[in-house]
Amino acid sequence: MRRISTLHDVFARGDIVPWRVVLMTFVLISFGLGGCSGPKRTQPVETEPWPDPEPAAGTPTLLAVGLLEKAKSLELSADGPALVMDGASGRRLARLDGPGKVVCKRDGRKVAWQAGGLRGTSETVILQPLDPGHRVNHGEFEYRGEFLVRPTPGGEGLTLVNNLDLESYLRGVVPWEIGRHERNRMAALEAQAVAARTYTLSHLGTRKSRGFDLYASVKDQVYKGSADEDPLCNLAVDNTAGLVLRFEGREIEAYYSACCGGVSSNIEEVWARGPKPYLISKPDSPGADEDAYCSTFRHFHWREVWTAKRLEEIMRKSLPEYVKYMTQPGRTDWAGPVFSPRDGSASADRPGGLRNLEILARTTSGRVAQLAVTTDAGVYHVRGDRVRWVLKPSDGNPFILRSAMFEVELVRDGDHLVEVATRGRGYGHGIGLCQTGALVMAEQGNNVREILAHYYPGAVLDEVGP
Ligand SMILES: [Zn+2]
Repeated sequence: MRRISTLHDVFARGDIVPWRVVLMTFVLISFGLGGCSGPKRTQPVETEPWPDPEPAAGTPTLLAVGLLEKAKSLELSADGPALVMDGASGRRLARLDGPGKVVCKRDGRKVAWQAGGLRGTSETVILQPLDPGHRVNHGEFEYRGEFLVRPTPGGEGLTLVNNLDLESYLRGVVPWEIGRHERNRMAALEAQAVAARTYTLSHLGTRKSRGFDLYASVKDQVYKGSADEDPLCNLAVDNTAGLVLRFEGREIEAYYSACCGGVSSNIEEVWARGPKPYLISKPDSPGADEDAYCSTFRHFHWREVWTAKRLEEIMRKSLPEYVKYMTQPGRTDWAGPVFSPRDGSASADRPGGLRNLEILARTTSGRVAQLAVTTDAGVYHVRGDRVRWVLKPSDGNPFILRSAMFEVELVRDGDHLVEVATRGRGYGHGIGLCQTGALVMAEQGNNVREILAHYYPGAVLDEVGP
């Protein structure tokens, strides 16, 4: 499920820092997850002391992060001596004695490689530094761990995967997801590290058909390798090493978004999944009648305006896309009827002129649960968070509407719709941790345990393994 929008998305749209890249991940092996000896401790985050960090003593959890798919060719290098190996057998194909490169191209169902004056074909090819302190490089990016190259499943070209351990991966995730901050916000960075670690473990295997564990983009979590790690974010990862959030013994679905607008969401009212007792609607404030932690965020309040003509143009695409999206398995029952045609000749694929927008239902948190969009073709019943995809901003920035917590304002000239505006709060789906709220909680002296207990009520801090 696409997870929009975190602080990364805010940054990516040029508000702060132009960050953006796409990667992917998949877990190779997950030793210790359900593991040999089971969890060492079980501590409610609300009441128990913060466990001492105990870096994994056994085999680390390994991940496969998908960096690219359908690449025509790949030129990879290592910044020190490295081996080029056959991925299936582990057989050495070539040795690079110093900084050197391997070039890969697709050859039927195999990978054709060239390295160290040798060439050959293999089903998968691995580039592994002899010293784990060295890095592998692709383009301007460098990564811990090793590269694996395989033919892209069901497509042309090659898939580039970065195999590495979970804790190293998180160093390349945390700064891109929550940003770089001063030491007074450390507890929020730690909360982000725990949320990202938990998200990773709870999503292992969901991208298996792609040949990796997780995408390295907003589809999962943004990961950009080791070149731009942040010392405080690294410390946050180390301080929380091996700690995850669990509910009834399983890693929770640790969703997070940039700004909840003052109230978080019940997951089942936003997406066709859940409910989850730890992903519930609650005020993001220290107490009743107090300002939300995230209320000073610059996107806490926002307004988006379209001419009716421009919105009609956007909806010519977005409404049929919505109907198609909601008719996919697992969503139909949740959504209910999505299109009521005006007459027998009307088609959901051709919305025609825009006549009216009306909010028919709201979620517990006040987000739009159902928006009726009336066009020449009939009425589209837009449900949950998908209203953000239907009401895409005029200039494509941001890519979708900031949040589903909004009012609609219509300007008419007689019966004719002239302008549509939405006035709203928050940025993102509002499920789970509110990143801007967590940063303020940290500034106000709350520790990581208190922050996690606030955003994932009832979840328990636990150790990954061994
Ligand atoms: Zn918030």
